[in-house]
Amino acid sequence: MCKVIAVVNQKGGVGKTTTCGNLGIGLARCGKKVLLIDADLQGDLTASLTDNLYLYNNPDEINHTLATVMMNTINEVEMDKDYAILRHSEGVDVLPSNIDLSAMEISLVNVMSRELILKRYIESIKQHYDYILIDGMPSLGMLTINVLACADSVLIPVQAAYLPIKGLQQLMKTIGQVKRQLNPRLEIEGVLVTMFDRRTKNARDITELLEENYGTMLNVFVNKIPLSVRAAETTAKGVSIFQYDPNGTVGQAYEALTKEVLEDESRNSEGD
Ligand code: ATP
Ligand code: MG
Repeated sequence: MCKVIAVVNQKGGVGKTTTCGNLGIGLARCGKKVLLIDADLQGDLTASLTDNLYLYNNPDEINHTLATVMMNTINEVEMDKDYAILRHSEGVDVLPSNIDLSAMEISLVNVMSRELILKRYIESIKQHYDYILIDGMPSLGMLTINVLACADSVLIPVQAAYLPIKGLQQLMKTIGQVKRQLNPRLEIEGVLVTMFDRRTKNARDITELLEENYGTMLNVFVNKIPLSVRAAETTAKGVSIFQYDPNGTVGQAYEALTKEVLEDESRNSEGD
């Protein structure tokens, strides 16, 4: 059984890509077979892992990407199960993206069942993985709808600050619409507080606000990701925080988050 987790928030710079990469590699370190899909035309997830995706120094040099996968899906072109997939040295598979995805999103406008293209692709490769994590982009456009339509659950990173938390209402509305109209199985994995600075009163107030307003509706992950320059540096290194700074606070927090995600899973499957 494969679980598809979409890491989504239309607010930019809240830690989606960092979470997707590190949670994915965290799950792989626990023995899971993981595919990371970069669904952002900025290609940040691809770039943040690129030094280690042998052969490539620059995402724009990659010919086979999520854009070509989606185009082939639309045109009903058969693909090998490894088509476009790169392997990262820390044990995860990566379906990369680059700027070609922007043309892809535009051409979706004229396509039949355009909300379900990514879902069609995922259904065809799902059996090869335990987890597929999708890094979403900072908008609620057609690609994000595709991501939500194929996911089993949504993980929402929020930065511990006032405006990012306000933006959650719009996201919850979109998730509700997708659930009602396209994907009734869609659940919310949880809200993850990122870049948390426990020394500031503001950050503490904000997390209380989040727990008060959404805590009964949503799972707010117990583990918060601390603010740390190490996390920001890792992005440029092409490796996970576990490799770059194994004993640091951010690595510990992502390890604990990985356990939380795995525990939710075993609780849910016991309940079945
Ligand atoms: P976008 O919406 O542009 O895709 P995003 O939500 O994917 O952004 P990231 O790219 O993961 O966010 O993070 C934004 C920036 O914050 C990056 O430069 C990243 O290195 C940095 N960052 C991520 N997590 C932390 C952290 N815990 N502490 C400090 N900096 C962090
Ligand atoms: Mg990102």
